[in-house]
Amino acid sequence: MTTDFCTNLTTTSLNGELLDDATCLRILEDPDIDLFPLLNAAYTVRKEYWGKEVQIHILNNAQNGHCPEDCSYCSQAKTADTDIESYRMKPDEEILEEAKQAYEGGAHRYCMVFAGRGPSEKRTDHLAGLIRKIKSRYTIEICVSAGLLDDDKASVLAEAGLDRLNHNLNTSERNYPNICTTHTYADRLDTLKAARNSGLQVCSGLIVGMGETRPELLEVAQALRELDTESIPVNFYLPLPGTNLDPSQELTPEYCLRVLCLFRFLNPKAEIRAAAGREVYFRSLEPMCLYPANSIFLQGYLNAQGGERKQTLQMILDAGFTIKSEQPLEELVEREEARSNQMVDSQGRLHVLKTREELRPARGSVADG
Ligand code: SF4
Repeated sequence: MTTDFCTNLTTTSLNGELLDDATCLRILEDPDIDLFPLLNAAYTVRKEYWGKEVQIHILNNAQNGHCPEDCSYCSQAKTADTDIESYRMKPDEEILEEAKQAYEGGAHRYCMVFAGRGPSEKRTDHLAGLIRKIKSRYTIEICVSAGLLDDDKASVLAEAGLDRLNHNLNTSERNYPNICTTHTYADRLDTLKAARNSGLQVCSGLIVGMGETRPELLEVAQALRELDTESIPVNFYLPLPGTNLDPSQELTPEYCLRVLCLFRFLNPKAEIRAAAGREVYFRSLEPMCLYPANSIFLQGYLNAQGGERKQTLQMILDAGFTIKSEQPLEELVEREEARSNQMVDSQGRLHVLKTREELRPARGSVADG
């Protein structure tokens, strides 16, 4: 039965047809549907559009903390009591040096993330100037995450050469009031529409494990399909100390892989990223996430460390995948020095916060601003 079920999933997805809700829920929770045939079916769809290539993303936390919003999962929220390294926007020289490092480190895309509700007009113009400089120096795509944007601000960034805007839906419309009260799901949707109106690609995903029901998870996947989202980061909730949202559900490696498969079947052409939580929740099955997903972050997340760079690159190489980069994967693996970042505590759950040096790798080589 599994084989027929999985063959139908592949065919339906490749035909661009929508799977019905009952089928989607079976992907997530039916124990009679074995995991490996499901992964193989998702891989067939992934391979059709992305081959065996993995897109590597590196995040630059260009402004950390100081956020007036109250997203309860976030260590940068005004309501969080996490001991993060807060700083206002990094000086331009530092951001430009980090863009250079990302390019030389094999990243195909450079993601700048600014905490906050949304940029002022002045900040938007400043970002536009930075985007122009990076684009003139490196062959790298740029993604910006800057909070809520209207049509005018999105246009300014698009005209500067921004490729993609990140703004996650995070969770379902119904669950949104449970995770944030200072803005709404509709606000987030409006920002994504502004990006679209300006001709930007859209990167928007979610955080799994924030109290959403499985039908709600499905609603998010369908909403992203309706938006024709180019890039979907699928994060798994990392409950950093000092944040206000308790982890409400167990995330097993199998469930996390099933979630990635669901997103692949519903969004066959999208770049699907096994994002935050990859190193923690997939455990020994981590390389399997490359079968439904075709994208990962290298060197950690906003305030949580990730796996060692060398280990991550080696995992891609060992699993027989390639990366999209001007730097050959084999050379990158050779160049990497293994670093020994301890990322889970003695209970195997929580994560060491990034150090100042990890948040601001270029700081020593440029003047302080
Ligand atoms: S998720 Fe973004 S908007 Fe929400 S608190 Fe964190 S930085 Fe602020």
